[in-house]
Order: sequence, then C-alpha cells, then structure tokens
Amino acid sequence: MPPSPAGRDHAATAPAHSLGRRRDLAVQAAVRQGLLDQRQPVVGLLDVAALRERAAALRAAFDDVTAPGTATLHAFAVKAASLVPVLRLLRDAGLGAEVASPGELALARAAGVPPERVVFDSPAKTTEELREALRLGIAVNADNPQELARLDALVPACDRPPPIGLRVNPQLGAGTIGAVSTATATSKFGVALRDAGAREEVRRAFLARPWLNRLHVHSGSQGVPAELMAEGVAAGHALAEEINSAAGRRQITGIDIGGGLPVDFTTDDPAEDFAAYAALLRRRVPGLFDGRYTLVTEFGRALAAKAGTVLARVEYTKSAGGRAIAVTHAGAQTAVRTVFAPDAWPLRVLTYDASGAPKNAARTGAGTVAASVVQDVAGPCCFAGDLVATGRELPALAPGDLVALPDTGAYYFSTPFGYNSLPRPGVYGFGVDRSGEVRFATVRRPQSLAEIVAEAGGAHEEALTALR
Ligand SMILES: *Cc1c(COP(=O)(O)O)cnc(C)c1O
Repeated sequence: MPPSPAGRDHAATAPAHSLGRRRDLAVQAAVRQGLLDQRQPVVGLLDVAALRERAAALRAAFDDVTAPGTATLHAFAVKAASLVPVLRLLRDAGLGAEVASPGELALARAAGVPPERVVFDSPAKTTEELREALRLGIAVNADNPQELARLDALVPACDRPPPIGLRVNPQLGAGTIGAVSTATATSKFGVALRDAGAREEVRRAFLARPWLNRLHVHSGSQGVPAELMAEGVAAGHALAEEINSAAGRRQITGIDIGGGLPVDFTTDDPAEDFAAYAALLRRRVPGLFDGRYTLVTEFGRALAAKAGTVLARVEYTKSAGGRAIAVTHAGAQTAVRTVFAPDAWPLRVLTYDASGAPKNAARTGAGTVAASVVQDVAGPCCFAGDLVATGRELPALAPGDLVALPDTGAYYFSTPFGYNSLPRPGVYGFGVDRSGEVRFATVRRPQSLAEIVAEAGGAHEEALTALR
C-alpha cells in the first residue's frame, strides 16, 4: 500500500463517527461478537481511524510550518505501542520508527519500516548493536562521549554511514512527573549541556568527527509544558548553528526534536495539539523550519494514546469498610503506570452493562440507568494496591458489567506487566463503517497458558533439582 498523502485529503477521509461514538460501538460489538468471554475477560481495542487521524494530523501540522521541500521524518516511538500491525499502519501513513532496543528494532523491521525511516536511540547501546545499526543503515543518536568513542572505531569501516547524531540534555528542569522528565539537571539521558565545560566538549566532539551530523534533543514528556519543550528545541537549534559556524560548513544537517507531547486524559475532544506545538516551535525557533535542516520527530503517546481502550469484565462487586469495590480484570498487568503511580497517571473509567450499552449515558439516551456510587475499580492482581481508580463516583456496577479505560493506546496494553502470570491481553484493531458496523482484526492474540509456562522456564523443569 502506498503511503497516503496526509493532510490534504484528511477531511475527505474523516470517519463518520466521533472517537467516543466509535468506542461505544466497538464495545457493543465486542460483546455481540463474543470477543470478551470467560477465557478472555480483558482486551485491548485499537481504533484504526484514530491512529490514521493522529498520523495525518502530525504530518499536516509540520507540513504547514516547514519550507517546501524540507526533509521531515516522523519516527513513531515504538515503546509507546510495540505492536507490529500498529507500526505497519503508521508506516503506511507515512511515519517511521524510533527504536531503543534490539527488540524494538526487530518489530520495526518486521513491520517493514525501511531503514532510512528508523532512528535508533538508547542510553545503553552495545558495540554489537551499534555495528548492526551501521550495517543496516539506520540513523543513530549517540548518548554520550563514550558511545562516540565506540563509533570512532566503527564508522570508518562503514561505506555509507547513516545519519549519526548526539543527544544533548538542555537541563531545563522537570515537568510534573519526575520519573518521565528527561531534561532535569541530573537526567541520565544525553550530554548535560549546562555542566561545566560540556558545551565546549560537545563542540570539540563534532569538529573532530566529520560524520557526526545530527543533534538530538528529547526534553518533553507527559507533564512537561509545551513551552519548556520548545525551549529545549531552541537550545538544540542554537547549538547546531554554533557548531556549524565553528566548523565553517553545514556539518549538522539534521535536528531531531524528540517527542513528548502530552495527552489530555480527561476528554475525548479532538486536540489541536500537534498544530499548536508546530506553530509554537515555528514562532520560537523559526530557523528550524527554513529547509536547511532535516527535521526528525519522535512522538509516541500523542500519536497512539487516544486510539486505545482497555475493556474488561466486572467479575464481582463487594463492599469493605463502607467502600464499594468492583473487582474487574483490568489491573496492573495492563495499566502499570496508573496502578503504581495513580496520581501521575489517572484514567477515566467508562461503564457499560453486560450487553455493552453505556450506563447512565446522557449522550445517547440509550443504555442502563444506575445510581451513582463512590467506588474503587480494582484489578485481578494479588496485591492490595491493584486499583485503576479509587473513590471514583460511577454508576453502580454489577457482575458481568464492563469497564473501559480510554486513552490507553500508548504505554498500556501494548506494554503489559507479567505479574501473577496473568496473560498479556489480546489486542484487536477495529474499524467502524458509516452504518456503525464494527469489524475487528487481531493485532495480538492473548498469551496462551502454554506460552506462559514456556516463558517461565517450562523447558527447564529439572534445571535446579539437578544442581548440587
Ligand atoms: C519515549 C521517547 C519518545 C516518545 O515519547 P512520548 O512522550 O511518547 O512522545 C521519543 N524519544 C525518545 C528518545 C524517547 O525516549
């Protein structure tokens, strides 16, 4: 399938139903078509129209602010949705892949992402991984001077070296979520630019290496304001200009601005986020868009989050110490961050009855009406903190009802957690036609019991008993 020219024909291909309506239709269809059952009480659902819309919105946003003919690569951060069919869909929508491990690289290759559209970032690349990246011709962003020294030994042997960059940390400070803030003074990522002597060291590193031709800054993430991200990009651009003038030539030919655009987890409303961010960058760093630099972006969450929904059955409902609790099949195995850092990663919880009709749905008038109850929504894991929502006012839930966690297309069901040997849930893409009919396609089968046993050393049952 040829890449679709995003942007221009965007309106013509806009889906007939809103994101929320498509989700409701998909939930109902999941029940009717038997996707959810006793053996598969939790699934991940992926809205293909939302993924395509987000990819088109990203491309259009940057096309609108770049000089004609500017080379631009939007590399999807694979860790946000490490699923081969997702990478393939995004490839066909004109995107590439940002990978940070041999596993992610293997996924991008399995999806057919061409090498010139892959960017390899990781703070811990082995020499072997670097050699392989050069052999494949994928762009590499080195993290630190020691990695550059390794590249010194590898690049001369390479016929046509791919673009190679250096990651810098502009040390702008944290956002609201410390664990995912990459541009703090003491962040583990990149060369800390404001440390004593660092800027000079970076400049020397470039001047000594004619093949070092990109600069990489990824300073955003959920909780980091766009203005701060733009500040990081501006710092990267200023450094590139400084190095190029010191080199007396355009040595740095590309700037990789990373990803990190936050997602609004409180609403379905379509965000103008890509367009607003591109416009902000255009105002703040106009030189980035004049066509002299290849532009690379690495968005993950902002591309995929809105496309995903975790859908789970309510198994039991109970009460403890006056608190109502719904025990569902969606817990830490599929919503790791929300369970372990609930204040940083709250999710909406949508409720449906056993037929898949929304409970208390003011928006459709259909569905079941139930009294509102303050309740905890718990998962299946055997630890007390396995809660995806605490003290939330929701329609009273009953066994057999369903709960949906929207906005979970990035870093949720695609990034499961193996606690309690719970299977990785199945993931199903869905498309909704004009009449509202929903078609599902398997993206990932649920993990089978045999696979769980195999991954748990099932082939080595005597390994320990045989040791003395
Ligand atoms: C995680 C990561 C991204 C993607 O971040 P999002 O917040 O998902 O957009 C991009 N680049 C690098 C280097 C990353 O580590």
